Amino acid sequence: MADGPFIYRFGKDLRLDDHAGLAAASSRGAVLPLLAVDPPMEARLRASPRRAAFFCGAVRALDEELRERGSRLIVRRAGAEAAVLGLAREAGAAGAAWSASYDDAGMRRDESLREALERAGLQAVVVHDSPAVAPEESAGARSAEGPGYRAFSPYFEVWRELPIASHESPLLLRFAGEEIDNEGLPHPAEFGVGDPPGGGGSAVARRLFATFLRERAPQYAIDANVPAEDGTSGLSAHLSFGTISARSIALAVRGRLADPFSIGEQRLSMRLFLRALAHRDFFLQLSWFNPQTHDEPLQGKMRGFRWERSHAGLDAWRAGATGFPLVDAGIRQLHRTGWMHPHVRAVAASTLCFDLGVDWRVGRAEWDRWLIEDDPAIATGNWQWIAGVGADMAQYPRIYNPERQLRRYDPAGLYVRRWIDELRGVPLEAWQPRAKSTGQLRLALFAEGEYPPPVVDHAVAARSFLRRYREFVSP
Ligand SMILES: Cc1cc2nc3c(=O)[nH]c(=O)nc-3n(C[C@H](O)[C@H](O)[C@H](O)COP(=O)(O)OP(=O)(O)OC[C@H]3O[C@@H](n4cnc5c(N)ncnc54)[C@H](O)[C@@H]3O)c2cc1C
Repeated sequence: MADGPFIYRFGKDLRLDDHAGLAAASSRGAVLPLLAVDPPMEARLRASPRRAAFFCGAVRALDEELRERGSRLIVRRAGAEAAVLGLAREAGAAGAAWSASYDDAGMRRDESLREALERAGLQAVVVHDSPAVAPEESAGARSAEGPGYRAFSPYFEVWRELPIASHESPLLLRFAGEEIDNEGLPHPAEFGVGDPPGGGGSAVARRLFATFLRERAPQYAIDANVPAEDGTSGLSAHLSFGTISARSIALAVRGRLADPFSIGEQRLSMRLFLRALAHRDFFLQLSWFNPQTHDEPLQGKMRGFRWERSHAGLDAWRAGATGFPLVDAGIRQLHRTGWMHPHVRAVAASTLCFDLGVDWRVGRAEWDRWLIEDDPAIATGNWQWIAGVGADMAQYPRIYNPERQLRRYDPAGLYVRRWIDELRGVPLEAWQPRAKSTGQLRLALFAEGEYPPPVVDHAVAARSFLRRYREFVSP
């Protein structure tokens, strides 16, 4: 190990334990823990108030953890290059490490920072910390289109057999830089957040995961798609900001699977939960190897497909007032919490793309204003998948019927009534006729001026979309 310190630049990896980046930095010197709030980070935080509040809470918790180890975060409000080079000069650091980005813009910024450091004669170490399995580790198989996987099933076959690394404990890390001048920690107010809800740090994330693993994970196979059950982990924001490592989660779940005493249903649940985690890695590697997909469809045949940029029902979709209760409940959950149940996301996104025919990029931008998660690569992969232009190679897009989804996954209206005030007082019997209805929901159920009728007739809209789709792919 060299004598001088080495910078670790924190980003969306706000924890100390099982940290690939910190492990890499600490093998090169005592770690100078830097947080550079640069303009791109500021823009991402300003975009969504709950994201900013969550981030500030996680940064505060990280700083406290560092202080318990006799250190603290060195905060700079400056471009990444100026912040890293300035600190390196000030502290005599030999270089800097940070964890890789997976979206197009972030990858370009990583590259230009690396070049700037190398020009200055400093080491630049970019580490895969966010995925459980790094893109290059799973990319053994090359398709005709290039490296990496473009379909999830073969990816998962490989992913589930690959070893997952575990990194050193924070107790072994050495820090430096206590004497260096510091700016104050970021505060939600500087990102325009008036009344921030509490954020969470790594201790909160670890507790959340431990509770999920003990209480909910064994029923994941049954509950995950039922929005009223809250049967998923709710860990996506924590994974997004790295307050918990995907590796530690995957290893713990693999450990449960290896338990010879676990029963069949629990094993199925653990397998499905691992599959969800592998989806995350899948979309990260998809963007890593195909960064152009931020703006254009992965499927070449779908480039040039004409999506609408506007629609008479678009504002209603944005507001959670489409008249499709499951969709509206999801959007209102997003507005109030910064998170939407994963299955409801799929239905709400399908409604935008197929019932309204609106561009998936419009939906992605809209949700980006509300989500805590800050994962352009994962958002893009999912939106493209739902829109039928990305990694799902099914012949036709999977169009969800929002009415049928409601009957199947929220038959008693528990989830819907939790989020849609206008429907809260509607008695259960009022939902029953719809269980038999095969056609469009008719709204004797809803009083004038209250919950709106559907913005489109789903059957008509879906048929018309499919016609357009067919004509485009096989004219
Ligand atoms: C249209 C659409 C947009 C989405 N946008 C985002 C986004 O911007 N950021 C984001 O992190 N997730 C996104 N997702 C994926 C998923 O819905 C969220 O990660 C969701 O919050 C998972 O909830 P959970 O943590 O309770 O999931 P769990 O079921 O408990 O899953 C555990 C973890 O696996 C990962 N995971 C599960 N499903 C997926 C998936 N389909 N893709 C990638 N990772 C997955 C998540 O990290 C999740 O925390 C999107 C899904 C859809 C359909």
